Amino acid sequence: MPSPPRWDVIVIGAGHNGLTAGALLAQAGLATLVVEAREVVGGCCVTEEIAPGCRASTTSYIASMLRPEVIHRLRLGRHGLRMVPCEPALQVALDGGEVVADWSDPDRTAAGLARYSPADARAFRAVHDELRALGARLQPLFLELPPDTRAGGLRQAGQLLRLGRRLRGLRGRDVERLTQLLTGSLGQFIDTRFESRQARALLLANNLYGKHGGPYQPGTLLGLVFHLLTGGDDAVPGFFGHVMGGMGAITGAIAAAGRAHGMQIRTGAPVVQVAVRRGGVAGVVLASGEELAARVVLSGADPKRTFLHLVDKAELPEDFRAAVAGIRMDGPCAKVNLVLGEEPRVTGMPPDAGPGQRALFTLPPDLAVADACYDRAKRGELADAGQLFIDCVVASNVDPSLAPAGRHVMTCFVQYVPYRLADGTWDARRDELGDRVITRIGAFAPNVPGTVLARQVLTPLDLERTYRLTEGNIFHGDIQLDQLFHMRPVPGWARYATPVRGLYLCGAGAHPGGGVTGAPGYNAARRVTADLRRRWKR
Ligand SMILES: Cc1cc2nc3c(=O)[nH]c(=O)nc-3n(C[C@H](O)[C@H](O)[C@H](O)COP(=O)(O)OP(=O)(O)OC[C@H]3O[C@@H](n4cnc5c(N)ncnc54)[C@H](O)[C@@H]3O)c2cc1C
Repeated sequence: MPSPPRWDVIVIGAGHNGLTAGALLAQAGLATLVVEAREVVGGCCVTEEIAPGCRASTTSYIASMLRPEVIHRLRLGRHGLRMVPCEPALQVALDGGEVVADWSDPDRTAAGLARYSPADARAFRAVHDELRALGARLQPLFLELPPDTRAGGLRQAGQLLRLGRRLRGLRGRDVERLTQLLTGSLGQFIDTRFESRQARALLLANNLYGKHGGPYQPGTLLGLVFHLLTGGDDAVPGFFGHVMGGMGAITGAIAAAGRAHGMQIRTGAPVVQVAVRRGGVAGVVLASGEELAARVVLSGADPKRTFLHLVDKAELPEDFRAAVAGIRMDGPCAKVNLVLGEEPRVTGMPPDAGPGQRALFTLPPDLAVADACYDRAKRGELADAGQLFIDCVVASNVDPSLAPAGRHVMTCFVQYVPYRLADGTWDARRDELGDRVITRIGAFAPNVPGTVLARQVLTPLDLERTYRLTEGNIFHGDIQLDQLFHMRPVPGWARYATPVRGLYLCGAGAHPGGGVTGAPGYNAARRVTADLRRRWKR
């Protein structure tokens, strides 16, 4: 009789979802090991040194959707997590030296917009209330298993009934709004509801990050609701937070919580294969050749990486592999992280703006240009410097521990950058991207180009190579209606289990998708404990 495996659970990948799943399963008393390819934990939720003494949130940079349930279940506050609300949550800098802020208090934002258009101020207030109400209705679905569309009989009826109960309170108007939100385009929504360029820029800036699609593409309106979900310790609707110590403090706290329950973590340990015997998972094989046996394996790697690279082709149904191969995920984003010798001085920033307000500014192109940039990205072209869509956060303004005195760390998220270039390679054009980003920022904060002391340019290819994001997709798969809820990662497999018995998906490629939420990890852990309980009972 072979001896039982040492591990009840092995989790592939120490991203925040893998760590969340691992920590919760360790908390449930299971012997849990997390194996991570990189030398650091965190995946895309990480703080790294980009120059001596200067630390940056190299990938994700704002905590807006981390589920309060995860924070509380794992007592992340006790493990050092501290978030400070961004105030304003968002701020756009426009040509001509205007700065327009979106405050946590919508009346204050509306008052700012009233200077440009009283009608826009009213529209903003109305949209805010509508979306918040809808967000509150949709939010519980985040931590719920989607219905199994391929189940039959009583099981399917039960799941649909549960979903029906959730949506019971929806009125006719809500259904209309929901339909519009799920299928409409952000561009059209803005065109029909807002007239001033200031309000239009604010709405655009908030809602396209990481989306594969121009602003006029159906489904792009959904981002509006995502950002009005609650977040932070106190479940504040529309929460945007700076994390003290950078985003790595989130994964550091989750890892610490897991370790306190006995979870172990091995870094520098890439998994090259998921071992399968007789249709059931048996463990993992590391690049070193070492085999680790486990009863259950969860993969926090994206679905394409997991099923097209780690699981032997013969172990998966052909139609499942084909569906996974069809997941849309070529990523439209890049990141440029800078160390500056002085704080950016943004033209038009109010003279009384405090360090928090000076800590963020977004440079959105106007809608038509954003649309054209998306088309260019689709053709493999890089937008001109004057057109780039960039979101800048000067994190050291709110957390001086990130850089020594006299230095600033600014992270710049760049949208509509192609994964596949029509001309040349990213290795040859990386600096060109960095230069264009700095030129664009210089048009709004003229002191920046002359004060850059160090820079790190992460192209979509770098996001793939370094952070193991297939095609550089920051969400492990586009956030589009046909790839959400019961369709994520692929139809028929939305409940974390996979065709290999005992193998589960726990990362952003699973419901409810990407962003630093912890929700896929949380849900996957619940699914695993429920399955194990059933197995043990039998
Ligand atoms: C540039 C950028 C900016 C972003 N900005 C924000 C933001 O501001 N706010 C926000 O909420 N979200 C943001 N996101 C999205 C968010 O960071 C991700 O969607 C989320 O972190 C994904 O978490 P995860 O745990 O599911 O996966 P990941 O963080 O991708 O973790 C997966 C882990 O698995 C490891 N791995 C993969 N393959 C293997 C293997 N074979 N063996 C061992 N380990 C393996 C990887 O190394 C990685 O550590 C951003 C992402 C990027 C890239």
